[in-house]
Amino acid sequence: MSIAKAVAFFNQKLEGTNCRLVAVSKTHPESLIQEAYDAGQRIFGENKAQEMTSKHENLPQDIEWHMIGHLQTNKVKYIAPFVHTIQSVDSLKLLQEIEKQAAKNNRVINCLLQIYIAEEESKFGLNEAEAIEILESESYKNMQHVKITGVMGIATNTENQKQLRKEFTALKNTFEKLKQTFFTGNDTVFKEVSMGMSSDYELAIDCGSTYIRVGSAIFGNRNYGNIQ
Ligand SMILES: *Cc1c(COP(=O)(O)O)cnc(C)c1O
Repeated sequence: MSIAKAVAFFNQKLEGTNCRLVAVSKTHPESLIQEAYDAGQRIFGENKAQEMTSKHENLPQDIEWHMIGHLQTNKVKYIAPFVHTIQSVDSLKLLQEIEKQAAKNNRVINCLLQIYIAEEESKFGLNEAEAIEILESESYKNMQHVKITGVMGIATNTENQKQLRKEFTALKNTFEKLKQTFFTGNDTVFKEVSMGMSSDYELAIDCGSTYIRVGSAIFGNRNYGNIQ
């Protein structure tokens, strides 16, 4: 399938739902991002600050950039001038740095709390108690330049549908709990559940996803030997 066809396919798939497509363009050249852009795609996901920054400089300015990879605090300054949403907030320390850099740029940056849902050991993320701790902290309550708009999760890399459904449902439940506890009367702000990738987006949509993050089903396989 061409990139344009893939974008059209997902547009059709998501029509009438409140779920949107984040086209994950990490490792792919700007020419392919431009192709997806020309087909109407506006939200793109990257997992490295420097790569996102140089792509941002060279591509149309109305692209909505989402950071989806683990972000080191010393890299926040590179993306703070333009990033739309940081989906991978996994510590208060990182949130504090985002607040600081967003303030410097006179911006408000949307943030998703990355919640740990997979069985695998290596994935970054918070558990529910840690997410609550951040939302209860005085530090967070005083922040003026970050807006926590929801949660993000990376499921186990498995074809086991039962396992995936369990993990997506757990993320959705955590979202509902945080919404009820911290965002009552404010649910136009806290509304995003980012889950589902190329291999499991259908199930994720079924479990209440509002952002599916799809890379290889749009751009083809990634060649990690080729990163510029
Ligand atoms: C790479 C990546 C994706 C996209 O994965 P595909 O299987 O290519 O769709 C989604 N989410 C995150 C966090 C990623 O790092």
